[in-house]
Amino acid sequence: MRPAHALIDLGALRHNYRLARRIAGGKSLAVIKADAYGHGAVRCAQALEPEADGFAVACIEEALELRQAGIRAPILLLEGFFDNEELSLIAEHDLWTVVATPWQVQALAAFKSPRPLRVWLKMDSGMHRLGLTPEDFRAAWLRLHGLPQVASIVLMTHLARADELDNSRTDEQAVAFALASRGMQAETSLCNSPGLLGWPALRGDWARPGLMLYGANPFPAHNTFTDQLRPVMSLRSKIISVRELGPHEPVGYGARFVTERPVTRIGVVAMGYADGYPQFAPNGTPVIVDGHACPLAGRVSMDMLTVDLSDHPAATLGSEVQLWGDALDASTLAARCNVSAYQMLCGVKRVPRLYLDEA
Ligand SMILES: *Cc1c(COP(=O)(O)O)cnc(C)c1O
Repeated sequence: MRPAHALIDLGALRHNYRLARRIAGGKSLAVIKADAYGHGAVRCAQALEPEADGFAVACIEEALELRQAGIRAPILLLEGFFDNEELSLIAEHDLWTVVATPWQVQALAAFKSPRPLRVWLKMDSGMHRLGLTPEDFRAAWLRLHGLPQVASIVLMTHLARADELDNSRTDEQAVAFALASRGMQAETSLCNSPGLLGWPALRGDWARPGLMLYGANPFPAHNTFTDQLRPVMSLRSKIISVRELGPHEPVGYGARFVTERPVTRIGVVAMGYADGYPQFAPNGTPVIVDGHACPLAGRVSMDMLTVDLSDHPAATLGSEVQLWGDALDASTLAARCNVSAYQMLCGVKRVPRLYLDEA
């Protein structure tokens, strides 16, 4: 069997969720959209369900996958519904929905629901993606609250630049949100992972941590909170071939790496960009072989990559390789490869996921 796999530590996931909730000082929806950022939504939800206040996904397809797997906890649809028929499914499967555009407000106001729905009314406080203008937000609140099909409303907004700790935009968004919500008696929700980890004063009743649950740091630097995160995924494989080359020999596509020393030992790892490893990882990117950092040598191929083992003579056929995980922080690797940790984790595919579930 091909040795490439992703080892998912569900104990670390629970640890990170508890950290999020401790920082939030309130309730937290575990964001497990996009198959839990590449970690497997059903297994992650099962691991968190006994303690999670609820989950958030992008769309109803993702929510129904969780319901079909037996998840009974609240599930919020972050993009809301895409057409009127989905409103019936939301009621049928007891889901929570974001309402973020005027047509969704109208559709909900006209909906004869078999049961009252919990609605997250979203305001655009400066991100300018989804969300109602302050005027539409207030009008929607007046129209929706008190309707029989609306059980309760949570007021939410989304932060655009919370990962930039020296940027005043986050405070401006928080002020705009507070102003627009004045007088509305409802719970609030502002923070994604960078909001929680970098702006703990923002609070709100509900946090919405995603990336941090998986142990990745949304900032270029560390702080006392990010230092407490535990990596959840280790992407692993093995050395499947070793060769020795003389000087001036090219390795791999495009000869991006050329040997210099009298003898260079090149190891081949069964892991490539089709598995989600960054295709444009530069020469010298650390690859952990039997616990030692060895430099990537040459372009990453679809199914394989090559690494210079010259300074680690004990490495051999079958040596254990870690591409990222507890020995190499995913955020650090992503930054070196000029991709985001979000994209890198969501991009993991083809490799089987193995789950470690220790308390
Ligand atoms: C994805 C998402 C989150 C989680 O963001 P992270 O940065 O991964 O913590 C929170 N809220 C909304 C609306 C989202 O779309």
